[in-house]
Amino acid sequence: MEKLLALYQASVRKAQDHLVKSKQLFSEGLISKNQLDENERAIAAAQLKVTEVQQQMTSADAQIAQTLLEVEGEKQIAKLGPLPKGGLIKTTSFIRYNGVGLWSLSQAGKIELFFQQTFKRPLPIAVFGQGAIHDRWRLDHHNAMDVSLNPDEPEGLALMEFLRGNGIPFSAFRGAIPGVATGPHIHIGLPSHRY
Ligand SMILES: [Zn+2]
Repeated sequence: MEKLLALYQASVRKAQDHLVKSKQLFSEGLISKNQLDENERAIAAAQLKVTEVQQQMTSADAQIAQTLLEVEGEKQIAKLGPLPKGGLIKTTSFIRYNGVGLWSLSQAGKIELFFQQTFKRPLPIAVFGQGAIHDRWRLDHHNAMDVSLNPDEPEGLALMEFLRGNGIPFSAFRGAIPGVATGPHIHIGLPSHRY
């Protein structure tokens, strides 16, 4: 992860250098405004990657608790049987919404944008896609991300409302599974499966 972070930080610096040159070229009328905007977007994208890696590094404990909850939660979800498109289940330990249409992790950007605009801080992503911990526990988490928000608190509630409004599947874990002390979070994507 540290190596990955260094790589991403290097690409931010590269994009920043590129922008400085582009601004010069733009002021001389040698490139278009569109090209300049594209450079700015490249920096934002590179910075997002840095943030994601930093969050993954600082939240190893949270990841373990959250993954444990998902492993336990998956058993309970399986017991409840298939859920129709757009279906919603609430229990004392979790809330599951089945979504409509196709979900892909590449839609994460619009969720992050909604959260940033609403709460003026970045979406607290603890896990983005498959992590080492999922590999070890043989949990398929490739097309999912975990957000460290309690589903019973205002930010978590607002996020779930946004997800339902956009037909995006999620499972919200309240952290009330016996034997699991902590780890309330919102898992965005279909439930993880063990393999
Ligand atoms: Zn998850």
